[in-house]
Amino acid sequence: MEKKNIDWGNLGFSYMETDKRFVSNFKDGAWDEGALISDASVTMSECACVLQYAQTCFEGLKAYTTEDGHIVTFRPDLNAERMEASAERLEMPVFPKERFIDAVVQVVAANEAYVPPFGSGATLYLRPYMYGKNAVIGVKPADEFEFRVFCTPVGPYFKGGVKPLTIRVSDFDRAAPNGTGHIKAGLNYAMSLYAIMSAHREGYDENMYLDPKTRTKVEETGGANFLFVTKDNKVVTPKSGSILPSITRRSLVHVAKEYLGLEVEEREVFLDEVKDFAECGLCGTAAVISPVGKIVDHGKEICLPSGMTEMGPVTRKLYDTLTGIQMGRIEAPEGWIKVIK
Ligand SMILES: *Cc1c(COP(=O)(O)O)cnc(C)c1O
Repeated sequence: MEKKNIDWGNLGFSYMETDKRFVSNFKDGAWDEGALISDASVTMSECACVLQYAQTCFEGLKAYTTEDGHIVTFRPDLNAERMEASAERLEMPVFPKERFIDAVVQVVAANEAYVPPFGSGATLYLRPYMYGKNAVIGVKPADEFEFRVFCTPVGPYFKGGVKPLTIRVSDFDRAAPNGTGHIKAGLNYAMSLYAIMSAHREGYDENMYLDPKTRTKVEETGGANFLFVTKDNKVVTPKSGSILPSITRRSLVHVAKEYLGLEVEEREVFLDEVKDFAECGLCGTAAVISPVGKIVDHGKEICLPSGMTEMGPVTRKLYDTLTGIQMGRIEAPEGWIKVIK
């Protein structure tokens, strides 16, 4: 397979149209069999439910080339299950798990020329999503839906080396108690755009959101879960019904316990105790873990002992072990790696 002539190492995180995408439509109570198509555009009613009432959810995962030359994805079954939960909460029909995984496999295989080679640091980002497509003007769910998966090559996250982030404690809230924070809905992102732009305008990389009810507990950022490390090497991650269950975070918790023999606590984490942690990281598919060096709470700076130049030692071990599993250097737990080719 001839690869596309792309400068893999210098790709950013942006959309590049690729050759094929998978599309399936739901109508009269059933999904059609779906197909790979070449047209990258979507045409729909001006009154489509997704355009008026944001009835849409999405997923994000990566395909990449391992050290021994296989093309694989990481735990796509968990993306399928999470999308099932998102669809149910948004009154959308579930796209069956086996079909979701098959669609991902088909899209990667059909765009093999865009899967970055091993060692480039780049990956093929996959975006499954679903939306209410027919015209709806009174507030109600659509009854016709479209499920799609497209892909786009993206560059290495830590281009030019790791750089710990500076984040602020946000005055905005991300997700209400009993709201939609635990599902991957577009609406959670729409309302975070102002908050992230305002953080950037003030010189911060990200927002740390607190629980809206008491504003004393750490939730997550706009798109990544927190992992903390205590001074005696315990891994601590916030537990809350309104954070998005990150597949990366859940995988890192397993790695911490089963590969590194670390103690892990999933529990409420109070903002007050953050100053006592040794390390802090943000976990998600994009970076696996981005270290946080500084957290600013209304002018009060919390400087993590791990500093502003590198990952803390435990964060580094977690990062190296999980990326080692993903790249095939370290044996993966059963079912984590889905081999496509
Ligand atoms: C997608 C997402 C994450 C990260 O989840 P992964 O499955 O690890 O990529 C974390 N927080 C939010 C709000 C997200 O939307």
